[in-house]
Amino acid sequence: MILSCLDDDPRMERTLCRFAGLLGHEVRFQTTSGALRDDLGRHVPDAIVLDLSLGNETGIDVLAWLADAHPNIPLVLLSGQGDELLDTARRIAQGKGLIVFGAVNKANLVRELPAVLSQRNSPPRQQRPQAQVQAKHPLRVEDLRESLRAGQITPYFQPILSARTLQPVGAEVLARLPLPEGGVLGAGAFIPLAEQSGLIMELTRVLSERLIELEPQLRPFGLDFLSINLSAANIERKGAAAMVKRLVDAFAGSSRIMIELTETAVLPDLQQMRALTTELRLGGASLAIDDFGIGYSSIRALAELPYDALKIDLSFVDEMFDSEKSANLIAAMVHMAHSLNLQVVAEGVETEAQRHQLIAIGVDRLQGYLFGHPVPIEHFVC
Ligand code: C2E
Ligand code: CA
Ligand code: CA
Repeated sequence: MILSCLDDDPRMERTLCRFAGLLGHEVRFQTTSGALRDDLGRHVPDAIVLDLSLGNETGIDVLAWLADAHPNIPLVLLSGQGDELLDTARRIAQGKGLIVFGAVNKANLVRELPAVLSQRNSPPRQQRPQAQVQAKHPLRVEDLRESLRAGQITPYFQPILSARTLQPVGAEVLARLPLPEGGVLGAGAFIPLAEQSGLIMELTRVLSERLIELEPQLRPFGLDFLSINLSAANIERKGAAAMVKRLVDAFAGSSRIMIELTETAVLPDLQQMRALTTELRLGGASLAIDDFGIGYSSIRALAELPYDALKIDLSFVDEMFDSEKSANLIAAMVHMAHSLNLQVVAEGVETEAQRHQLIAIGVDRLQGYLFGHPVPIEHFVC
């Protein structure tokens, strides 16, 4: 590979040239961003090795310029300031649409650089399957209201496995909206609208009724629990508690009802959350804190509310091999949850490597495309 390197420390030239040379790469070394600019204008390298500390300017300024001028040249980020800084710089670069082969701590150059440079040969990350279609026009509140009136909201089911036996022990119920023109809308396309427009309670009620109708079809699967999402935003406490009680009763002797609480959009009213969670538990449901680690799903909520399970947000699982910090945070979340007697569910498990690592860390349950996509009851197998 031909590498264009930018580092304001001229001593790095020798180190990099010698080391990259041993690995079979050619290095063109620059000490200022102006020189790099000229170099890139003459010939495009296979990758740019960029030091983040550049004296008068910072690597962050260079990233902004590269994103504009050369967004297709992959990058290797370099810093002597530690992994934390490199990790954040990588996120900045990727956030600007740049391709990052990796981030190398100068203290570990000899160990880390060869691995990062060999990345270019690794296959691209698995494309996320496009399970749902896009609506031709953005959904309007009236359309959603009409769909609810017509009872069109449909529950899809995604298996949740025991990490010990790798057998399904439960399923998460995820809302879908079939479109008249064909195809199915994913939850992301209408749940936020339902939350903002005050239709979320009605949506959850319609979904619950559909679920109750499906009880005879779900019973043979012998699932320990069914997980249902409840947005804390715009919720009407008494109505929600009554609805969940109806579900618990309908599934008595079949599956436990687990309520996954998300606290979106607004800072939740803690007094309201205390009352709601207590009522749900008294009604016989279990409680999970959803999307733990982001937004308002906070440690304060764990301290105050009677949760049984904690779902680690899938963003942590997604980057557990790219960010040591995320992997360490997963381990810390598992430790913390277990010390509070909470079951831990990892969401968004897509690869065998993630599965393996999450089991080693001590997660109790696993959910993700690796085991099954959300599907309608007719296609649910476990
Ligand atoms: P969530 O509760 O965090 O649900 C998990 C989301 O991750 C689902 O998206 C699911 O399809 C997706 N997912 C599952 N496995 C994988 C994987 O391996 N990789 C990736 N990248 N994604 C995976 P979905 O169904 O689009 O739902 C999005 C969000 O909408 C849900 O996030 C939940 O917050 C909300 N939602 C869905 N159904 C309902 C509902 O009935 N009521 C309420 N209040 N919210 C709902
Ligand atoms: Ca959920
Ligand atoms: Ca989640």
